[in-house]
Amino acid sequence: CYPTAMMLLTALLCGLLSTSQPLFVKTDDNDGNNIEDDDFSVSTLLEKANANLGKNLDDPLVMFGDIALPTGLRNADPCTARGCLWNKDQDGNVYIPYRISNQFSQRERSIIVRGLESFHDSTCLRFRPHQRERDFVDIQSRSGCWSFVGRRGGGQVVSLMRNGCVFHQIVQHELLHALGFNHEQTRSDRDSHVRILLENVIPGQEHNFRKIQTNNLGTPYDYNSVMHYGRFAFSRNREPTIVPIPNPNVEIGRATQMSQNDILRVNRLYQCNSNFLKNKQSASGMQFL
Ligand SMILES: [Zn+2]
Repeated sequence: CYPTAMMLLTALLCGLLSTSQPLFVKTDDNDGNNIEDDDFSVSTLLEKANANLGKNLDDPLVMFGDIALPTGLRNADPCTARGCLWNKDQDGNVYIPYRISNQFSQRERSIIVRGLESFHDSTCLRFRPHQRERDFVDIQSRSGCWSFVGRRGGGQVVSLMRNGCVFHQIVQHELLHALGFNHEQTRSDRDSHVRILLENVIPGQEHNFRKIQTNNLGTPYDYNSVMHYGRFAFSRNREPTIVPIPNPNVEIGRATQMSQNDILRVNRLYQCNSNFLKNKQSASGMQFL
């Protein structure tokens, strides 16, 4: 979102959770909120895939788990008010050119394309193969899963490492970053909905829980957002790092696809209020606006 000249190639990282066998026996009274139950949460997948991130000098600086940053810091990112949105066409659609590296197999490619096209049914976004457009999403298998937040200008890499990132929910998650969205648990109003237990966070990873002055677009905080991390994200001790309030037992961060709120936000941020959506709304009973 910042017109800085060069990406910094330093790298902090998500040194992470080993996936070795748990040291303790799983109890029978499984309430569904144990660390093992989070194996396929977006944040667990991201942490595993990003465990080695930073060793490759071609990787940009990655913070907030999987958000690539140019320099400096800084739901919708503040940059969306300053021009990091993708452009809207006269026909009301937002066309986003994409390129998918030939590193991917046919099967992986189809998962990625399905993720891109999942926006077409419920929003005014239209991903289409890149031709000569200046700005486009350049999907590659780099080290880890990561994306910049918002449109950066020119070709911008979205990394979906072949071994670990090519899942429907991860494709949607990384693209939502590229569209301008941050993680749900960094929302400006998150303290009313979750408690962050920094004492359980891996030292050096606290920045992943920093709050951002997001534009929440009038949408409710959503534990089921595909942008919400799981209960044990960046845990150093297998204890929770994010606990919902007031009810600590509610499931969080288990989305396997975009939630209705994720879709609503896209529609609000990109003002997808065309007749198309009104028709869709009456057809599906979904509330878009
Ligand atoms: Zn992310």
